[in-house]
Amino acid sequence: MRVLVEWGDHRTPLRYTVQGSNLGQASSVLRARGHQAGLFSWHVAYHLYCAHRPTVTRIKFSPTSSILMPTWPQYRIQPRLCQEEWDSIWNALMRHEVGHADLFESRLDALVAHLAHEPPMNSSKCRLYIDYQLNDIKKRERQYDINTSHGSRGVDITISRDCVGPT
Ligand SMILES: [Zn+2]
Repeated sequence: MRVLVEWGDHRTPLRYTVQGSNLGQASSVLRARGHQAGLFSWHVAYHLYCAHRPTVTRIKFSPTSSILMPTWPQYRIQPRLCQEEWDSIWNALMRHEVGHADLFESRLDALVAHLAHEPPMNSSKCRLYIDYQLNDIKKRERQYDINTSHGSRGVDITISRDCVGPT
């Protein structure tokens, strides 16, 4: 079958604002957001083309993805050490979200490659197969979160006493 992939937004950076006059406050906002401290999101729309119904001869995928990350306006006025600690948190979060993006894109590539090698297919069978595979990506992402939740996400990084602020 002919399979086309037409990307829309691709790893589009999105930002949300974190309030807090010191790193202690800013990082507690991240902890409170839990898994949504950083967030990779994706969506795959697809269209099946049939030369003769119900046989699919061509498929077009339209994937989009984005990475939502925190931005902290008070960062500019923090001591160097605290800026570095925020950077470590931010970079660890970003690495985690990029891992989601890599996983998503490699599974989508595999799905496209598989379909490209298939002969024309019944449309309901084709739809079932694609939906199953897209759902499987979500399962793999949940497994990725379980496998990486300990220590690899920025929210787990210990903050120096000097950056926590008055208690
Ligand atoms: Zn995650």
